[in-house]
Amino acid sequence: MLNIAIQKSGRMSQDSIDLLKRCGLRFSSSGRGLIAQSSGFPANIYYLRDDDIPDYVEDGIADVGIVGLNVLLEGQNEVTISKKLGFSRCRLSIAIPREMDYQNIQDLDGKEIATSYPVILKNYLDEQNVSARIHTISGSVEIAPGIGLTDGICDIVSTGSTLLSNGLKEVENILNSEAVMISHNNLDATKQDLLDKLIFRIKSVQKAIKSKYILLNAPNDKLDKIIDLLPGMKSPSILPLAEDGWSSVHSVVHEEDFWEVIDQLKEYGAESLLVVPIEKMIL
Ligand code: ATP
Ligand code: MG
Repeated sequence: MLNIAIQKSGRMSQDSIDLLKRCGLRFSSSGRGLIAQSSGFPANIYYLRDDDIPDYVEDGIADVGIVGLNVLLEGQNEVTISKKLGFSRCRLSIAIPREMDYQNIQDLDGKEIATSYPVILKNYLDEQNVSARIHTISGSVEIAPGIGLTDGICDIVSTGSTLLSNGLKEVENILNSEAVMISHNNLDATKQDLLDKLIFRIKSVQKAIKSKYILLNAPNDKLDKIIDLLPGMKSPSILPLAEDGWSSVHSVVHEEDFWEVIDQLKEYGAESLLVVPIEKMIL
């Protein structure tokens, strides 16, 4: 049985639940009791505050957990990062009042900075040989300069609109964060085996998210050109249509290449294009 810790409620919870469900775990996520048992994969889901997840995993109370890299690095826990998950992307940045002059990080020397991430900030400032006073507060960091508490802040930024509405500008990006799957450092063989299986499933889900299944009808005299555009996993499948001179082509395209490929396919006379999401991809 693998004990998996995820955030109970907050910015990471829904994406964590969705990922585990796409990996075939079936568990209750409605009432959000503190523990849910999974069927479809031998696991228990622990719903926790995100800050507590690295501690639970380090202690082995939970075997694995899903947490933001920012929270993990701040806690300095002894755990293993098993897989980057690609969601909950955000950055940790230093911001200062818009009107303050700023050439480079040395301008922060001797200044005061408010943050909920004192460990990450101190490491960064030390690396840059800057000595600023760090004022640790647990929330509403962005109002600190406006109320005269500090000169600047270091906080999570996603769109920058909170900074803007508080009269701040972003001057240093100190960490790019995303959700990561962490695991206890000394899992026994049975649990390690379950973790490997779970990671295999996550990889299949991630590959599928980035790919689309494409079906189209093509005139036979353009098949060569169309096949060149659609490499597929090995090569595209070609099936003859009942109508003479036409074939049905099935393949997989990468999401990023999608529109470009579609435009070229149409130019080559492809018709009746269907693009379908892929549930899982086992290669
Ligand atoms: P908890 O109650 O569990 O302690 P919290 O209030 O500390 O939750 P949230 O605001 O829910 O935390 O954010 C959880 C994580 O989501 C953050 O640590 C960060 O990794 C990521 N995150 C934060 N802000 C954003 C954002 N705007 N967009 C995407 N991800 C974000
Ligand atoms: Mg938290």
